[in-house]
Amino acid sequence: MPQIISLLGSTGSIGTQALDVISGYPDEFMVDVLTAGNNAGLLIKQAKQFHPRAVVIGNKAHLDNLKYGLRNTGIKAYAGDEELEHVISDSESGVVLAAIVGYSGLKPVIAAIKSGKNVALANKETLVVAGDIITRLLSKKGTSLVPVDSEHSAIFQCLIGEEHDSIEKITLTASGGPFLNMSIDNLKKVKPADALRHPNWSMGDKITIDSATMMNKGLEVIEAKWLFDLRPDQISVTIHPQSIIHSFVHFRDGSVKAQLGMPDMRVPILYALTHPRRFATELPRLDFREYRSFTFSEPDMKKFRSLSLAFMALDEGGNKPCILNAANETAVRAFLSGEIGFLQIPETVEYALENNLYLAAPDLEALEVSDKQARDTARKYINKLKKRK
Ligand code: NDP
Ligand code: MG
Repeated sequence: MPQIISLLGSTGSIGTQALDVISGYPDEFMVDVLTAGNNAGLLIKQAKQFHPRAVVIGNKAHLDNLKYGLRNTGIKAYAGDEELEHVISDSESGVVLAAIVGYSGLKPVIAAIKSGKNVALANKETLVVAGDIITRLLSKKGTSLVPVDSEHSAIFQCLIGEEHDSIEKITLTASGGPFLNMSIDNLKKVKPADALRHPNWSMGDKITIDSATMMNKGLEVIEAKWLFDLRPDQISVTIHPQSIIHSFVHFRDGSVKAQLGMPDMRVPILYALTHPRRFATELPRLDFREYRSFTFSEPDMKKFRSLSLAFMALDEGGNKPCILNAANETAVRAFLSGEIGFLQIPETVEYALENNLYLAAPDLEALEVSDKQARDTARKYINKLKKRK
């Protein structure tokens, strides 16, 4: 029987790569639901190729377009956040691949778990904001959540057959992004186009900026805590610009395991859908002869302030990671639209962390309030920065 899959965010970088992978195994996968935020044109094209039962578009203004594009196909079309949750809950899929970017991915993931689906998670912000709630929900429902993020997929693979007690710590590798060797003075002058040029990975805009500030690694540190049930002091980061070693697990007997491969997200995407099995692929192979050396260095926490803010938010817990994420999403958008400078992204996040009420054990409703308030605080700070310009 083919595996039935629903894809949240099918028009994005992860979504399109997932469909590329899925198209290679027509007997193994069936697509039940595809969703997008705004890109109705691509969603229609994908629906005509993969014949899902239903498609959902976030922005209701595109529903008529979507319906018109899919007339006579028998594919149902819906719009809006609530419909998205309904369609995912009602879907017959065994796995929901969560590839919406940002906080908007949280509620659909909750709907998927509540309705008993297994989740393949790319949307790290979901675990950053609500890791505690998600992990408890998973154990209540008995469903699984498997990481798509390459570092976490690496750790997940290294932990197969291991006992939790055996883990001493993990090391997440980071490419260091396009500004690894740039001085702080030059970082001040960085433009969106410079930051959008990642050396090793081609990704959506938000995560590409997060990689340049290293907030992406910070979010991944928090993501790892929840995925692998680790204490903050068990998670470290090393800069590995080659992006070939995807992460390490250090065990209590002194042994270390790593997972390696070419930097190609289609590998961890496919593994999240097929594990513990591995499907054959014809993707580019790693040839050690092409790499004279693998290098590792400590991240510069002063230069990459976002990473140290994420570690601080993880230490403090409660709603701090939610505030961190909301302020970061707001600041990244402001940077991309030319409102603030590159170094003002962490500055805005820090301001929001210091100027929002701390809650030690927020429920989902409280997190929603924290998210909104942190966005407001960040926005006010951005407006102040703009006046200073
Ligand atoms: P993209 O921006 O390329 O794609 C985001 C997808 O989500 C698009 O399909 C978009 O639709 C949809 N979307 C955005 N906002 C909403 C919304 N409010 N409601 C419904 N749908 C929405 O992002 P990526 O694919 O790069 O990243 C997706 C997630 O995966 C992120 O959390 C990222 O951190 C994570 N990830 C990505 C990696 C990568 O290589 N790209 C690697 C590891 C993790 P539309 O196209 O219509 O705007
Ligand atoms: Mg990653």
